[in-house]
Amino acid sequence: MTPDQTPPTDATHAGMCEPCAAVQQNWRRAPGHAELVQGANRKELRGEKTVTVTRYRCDHCGTVWDYENNKANQHAGWSVVPRRA
Ligand SMILES: [Zn+2]
Repeated sequence: MTPDQTPPTDATHAGMCEPCAAVQQNWRRAPGHAELVQGANRKELRGEKTVTVTRYRCDHCGTVWDYENNKANQHAGWSVVPRRA
């Protein structure tokens, strides 16, 4: 008896596979998923502190992710890297 629920047309999730769409973004220590392949690390400055950001790429749908390991920020974590044209 539930009406049809149209999923929100969220540009962030466009073209993503289901496991990618399920990754909780911007939340510290949220898990990724099994098909994310780890890439390079880099250091980025957040205020006065340096954090480590790790690049991942989904083997399934090609979505590129950054994972920021920042103990000082509960809302640092997974974020989608916008595709460049
Ligand atoms: Zn994916």
